[in-house]
Parts: sequence; structure tokens; C-alpha cells
Amino acid sequence: MSPVDGGVEVVVDKVSKSFEDGRIQALVDVSLRLQPGDFVSLTGPSGCGKSTLLNLIGALDRPDSGSISVGGRRLESLENPAGYRAGTVGFVFQFHNLIPTLTALENVQVPMFGRGLTRRGREERARLLLEECALGHRLKSHPSTLSGGERQRVAVARALANDPPLLLADEPTGALDSATGAQIVALLLALREQRGMTILLVTNDGDVAEEADRTLRLRDGRVVEGRAVPGSVSGSVPGTAGGLTRAAGPRSA
Ligand code: ADP
Ligand code: MG
Repeated sequence: MSPVDGGVEVVVDKVSKSFEDGRIQALVDVSLRLQPGDFVSLTGPSGCGKSTLLNLIGALDRPDSGSISVGGRRLESLENPAGYRAGTVGFVFQFHNLIPTLTALENVQVPMFGRGLTRRGREERARLLLEECALGHRLKSHPSTLSGGERQRVAVARALANDPPLLLADEPTGALDSATGAQIVALLLALREQRGMTILLVTNDGDVAEEADRTLRLRDGRVVEGRAVPGSVSGSVPGTAGGLTRAAGPRSA
């Protein structure tokens, strides 16, 4: 498995998703574009569709209409969504979702099964990832013996198991105190720096959101650019003027 040199482009084009036979419009004509290596935060009130959008980009669910492409692959025509998830996407959730009976080292190996590594190769790789997440001293620890921040760092290491070029994080600091949450964000920033992966981070914490290159807001199922054009609603095709494409480098505006 070779390390990724960078992230992937993510293009969401006029995506809509409803539930309950259309009674719940979770996403309405949402368009956005992430450049490879972008670190973008997505905020918005509870129930506004943030997790739904992440699930669609992660091919855990399918849009009703519109299209999503990741690294040039259109998700609606994926033949093997599970293969896409395993190879392209790392997920980090609010609650770490670690397996309680497995050690940190074993938890990180879970996504590596079936991907052609030997047991020794898996272990070595998991150890390196845990060291990268500053947990080299807790390899043999079970989740119940770790602090909340440490568990979330194991979850981040697990998300990196297959070197994904895209990391989707759904309120990863939501269950942590602010100092611990800041450490998780610092870790994500450092990982992006080293690996160049694309990161989409859902958060309701304004301080966390500010750490990203750009902030997007979801409101009533629609995307609004956070810092750059507050209050403006965009249903535009990605890349068009007034759309959501980053004009230049991070924080350069
Ligand atoms: P957020 O993550 O921003 O809090 P969600 O994306 O989880 O919001 O949910 C958006 C809306 O869609 C909410 O009204 C939620 O109740 C609804 N919803 C999400 N998933 C489902 C589902 N599987 N079935 C029915 N309704 C859902
Ligand atoms: Mg959510």
C-alpha cells in the first residue's frame, strides 16, 4: 500500500435527499466543491442535513437527485460502494465506535482486513498510525481504559488505516471538552499537512470550525458560504462565480 501524495477533489452538484416519502427535505439542491487537500468545516443547526451530506459523500447512502464525484469517480455509478469506502474514505464519528473487546492496535487493523496485508504488515502499519496519533504508548490498551481524547485518536488512526485521500469527520469533537477537542483538530491539521488529504469536518463548535481553510454552513437543507459571503444562499453549479469554490490558497481571501 503506497502512501497518498494528496487528497481528492470532491464535487457535489445539485444534490437533493429527502426522507419519509419526501416529508423531510434533508438536502435541497446542494452544491459544493472541495479541492484536493482542502480542509473545510461544515456547520449548521441540528437536523439541517450535515450527517446526511457526509453519508452521501461517503457512499453510505444515495442522493435522490444530483451527482457526487470524488477523485473523478461518480458515486452513482459505483459498482462496489464498499470498496470505494474502504479505499477512499476515512470516517471519524462523534462517538469513537471502537470495538470494546479489541486493543487500540487491533481496532486500527479492522479496516485493513481483506486488503492483502499480512498479519505482521497490518500490525506494523497500525503501530505506525497510532504513533502518528501520539498513542504509541497505548497500543495494547482497550478503549475502556483510554480517555475520551485518546479513544478519538484511536478512531482517527483507524480512519487512516487504508491511507484514504478523503477524511469525513462528523462532529468528532462533539463529545469532548474544548481543550481535548482542540487536540483532535490539531491532529487533523497535522495529518492534512503531512498527507495532503482532503478533510470535510462537521462541527457545531465555532472555534473548531475556524481552524479550517473555509467554513460552509448548511441551513434549511442548503449550503451557505460561512466566512466569505455570510447569508448568501447558493444553489449554483460548483465552480461558477459566487459558488463555493476556493478562489486561491487557504485563508488567502
Ligand atoms: P444533522 O446531522 O445536521 O443534525 P441529519 O443529516 O442527521 O442532520 O438529518 C437531517 C434531517 O433528515 C433531519 O430532519 C433528520 O431527522 C432526517 N433524517 C436523517 N436521516 C434519516 C433517516 N434515515 N430517516 C428519516 N429521516 C432522517
Ligand atoms: Mg449529524
